[in-house]
This record gives sequence, C-alpha cells and structure tokens, in this order.
Amino acid sequence: MAHTLIMPKQTGKKDALYASLELYYNSSKRGEEWYNNNNFKKEIQKSLLYLSKGAQNGPYLVKQSELARYFGLVKYDYGTRPGKAHITNRGIRFFNAYLSNDIDMQLSIIMDSILSDSFGRNNCAIESSDSDVDAPKLFLKAIVDLNGISRKGLAYLLYVIHDLKIGYSDAIIELTKTNNQEREIPIEVANKYSDVKFTVLLTELGITTEQNNKYQLTEFTKKEYYNNIKNISIYNKEPELILTLREDIQVDEDERFNDNTIINELSQNRIVSSFTYDINSERFKKQNNRNPVSYKVGNILKYKTNARISKTAISLAEYKCSIDHSHTTFNSKLGTQYMEAHHLIPMCAQKDFSINIDRIENIISICPICHCGIHLGNQEFKLDLLKKLYDLKEQELKSVGININFGELFSKYYR
Ligand SMILES: [Zn+2]
Ligand SMILES: [Zn+2]
Repeated sequence: MAHTLIMPKQTGKKDALYASLELYYNSSKRGEEWYNNNNFKKEIQKSLLYLSKGAQNGPYLVKQSELARYFGLVKYDYGTRPGKAHITNRGIRFFNAYLSNDIDMQLSIIMDSILSDSFGRNNCAIESSDSDVDAPKLFLKAIVDLNGISRKGLAYLLYVIHDLKIGYSDAIIELTKTNNQEREIPIEVANKYSDVKFTVLLTELGITTEQNNKYQLTEFTKKEYYNNIKNISIYNKEPELILTLREDIQVDEDERFNDNTIINELSQNRIVSSFTYDINSERFKKQNNRNPVSYKVGNILKYKTNARISKTAISLAEYKCSIDHSHTTFNSKLGTQYMEAHHLIPMCAQKDFSINIDRIENIISICPICHCGIHLGNQEFKLDLLKKLYDLKEQELKSVGININFGELFSKYYR
C-alpha cells in the first residue's frame, strides 16, 4: 500500500517528554540554535534511568523526543548527520508551564496542537507518514461520538478509515454495529494500530483518562474543548468527495432536494466514496435488516441511512440507470459511471413501516436527470418514471413483506 499511516511508537511516557524538553530548553537558554543528536543521546540516558539499563541503540534514544516533536514542541532537522533539533516557541511555553506547575496551561498547549496541527502528513516527528487521517483528532472525536473508545476500537477505526478509505461516519456506525470478533485487522497493521503511544501520553498528561478499558475525556477536556472536538475534522486536509461537515450523522441522500443544496450535494458525493457490501455476508444482512434509527433536525424526524447499502444497490445495478440503461453520466473517482440512489418508498415514510426501508430491496440506481425528474418533475412525468420503478421493485418489496400498491405509493409519498 502506497499510503502509510505512521505514529510515534517508542514511548508515551510523559517523563520522556519532559526530559527531552528539558535538554532542548537548556540548549536554547545557552543560546544554541540547534542541539545535536549525539549530545541528546548522551544526556537523555542520564535523565531517564530506564534507558541506562542494557544497551539501547541510537534511534531508540533519539525517539524519546518523538512525542515532543509530534505535538510541535520540538522542531527536528532531518537534513544533517548527526541529526539536530531545537525547542519551538510552543515548546518553551509548555516547559515554562511545567516549571511553574501550571497543568491547565500544558493541557491547553497540547490541545491547541491537536486542534490545529497536521499529524498524518507533514508532521515533524514522523516524516514518512503519508495519510489524510490525523490520528489524535480521530481519537478524541471518536471518544466524543462513541462515549468512550477502547484500544481495539481505535485500532479498528484507524485501519478502516486509513487503509480501507471508509468515511468516518460509516466507520463509526460499523464499529457500533459489530463486536470484536467481527472486526478483522490484518496482521501487518494490527500491532501498529493497537499500540499507539500518543494515547498513553494524552492520558498521562490528563487530556484523556482510561477507565474499564475505555478512553474517556477528562473533566478538563470536556469542559474546555467538548465542542471543538465534536466539530473537528479527522482529516489533515479535506479529502475530495468525503464529507466531513456533517459526518456525525448519516444524511439521507434525497436531502439534496431540500434547501441546503450545497451541503447536501456534498453528502450525495459521499455515497460515491463509500464501499459496497458483499450481499451474502452476515454483515450486510444485519445492516439491511437493522431496526430504523431516528434523529431530529429541529422538529423534523429523520432516519439514519447507510450509504454503503445505497452504494451496494448501485453496484448491483452495474452503475446503470434503472429507468433506461442507455442513460449515461460520467466516470466518478472510483472509475465507475456516476449514479445516484433513490429510495422508492422515501425515507420520510419510515414512520409508516416497522421494517427498515433503507434496504437494498427499496433502493434504485438512477441517473441524476431521472432522479431530479422523480423529485421535481410535473405529475405526469413523475407518474411515468415511478411506475417503471415500481414495476421493477414490486416483487422485491413483497419478498420482504412490504406490500404497497402503486396508487398508494404515489398518492401518499409523491404528490
Ligand atoms: Zn431520490
Ligand atoms: Zn436516467
């Protein structure tokens, strides 16, 4: 895999952070522009007693400062031999807060880093990382959205979002719907993702806490940063076609015919970027047959949809318009013809059904022109299109116990 997500992996101990900073801090006090690695290796062994036990190689010693670099407290120069580094202004503020025992200030500085820095790419600690995913942002956001996350849960999210390129909200839903046995992480990345060191440091510092095998926010973080975290994007840049604006909820794709056109057009694109299910898999059957989950936007009751089911329906239709196979659009980023998904019985009708209607039997692959026609055309035009679609889906709907005749469908939901 070309893209790789690298995170500091040597140590998450706050002692290592403080000891590293102290060396760079003192070097800067002496007026030195840089502090070279040979000196650092020699001195860090004196500061951290656990390092003196047994032979430790050079890179291991240098990596005691990895998390200081990760959070922008130390700047590293990769271009020289031996390597060299110096404390940043942020690092100086952090270390001064440490010297004056101002813990809140230390936490605020680290939180500022998490909220504003890039971690997956262009981070000073992990030069070779090449990922859109900012792991520390993902960690905190997942805690908020899931009300706590385990190590294994975090590992799974990192794998699914970075390696499988599944959108954050789909990944969160997947996590809540599956148990540990169902979540497979390939052996090559399992260790890397389940032994993440920055979570250890954040917990030692007091940004997070670990209780009953789950990470939670501390009272401080909750009080000061809950909303920032809730609204953060977990990507270091806005990946094309991935909606992060509203990734905390699944948006019904038909929403693009409501007022917020721009946001909803983005949500439409999310369908293209998410993955399909194997329709013989248990996971798919579970999702297709799940219980409807509602949420409210203002006073309006809405139902969560699973973009992956829509994507699966489009894929099964071989990316063709169900009205007329000769309708063409353009090639999407995935290399397939762009098609949209339409719920024949619209999602707003979910309240009239006990069975989940966000399901493959109710979803149609359709070109954007026909899709607009269904929602925005005049009565005769809509009638014509919908009759075709109804005839196409009638048996499938019956097979899952949804018995609705065409007249009822049209008069109730499309007039
Ligand atoms: Zn539609
Ligand atoms: Zn069409």
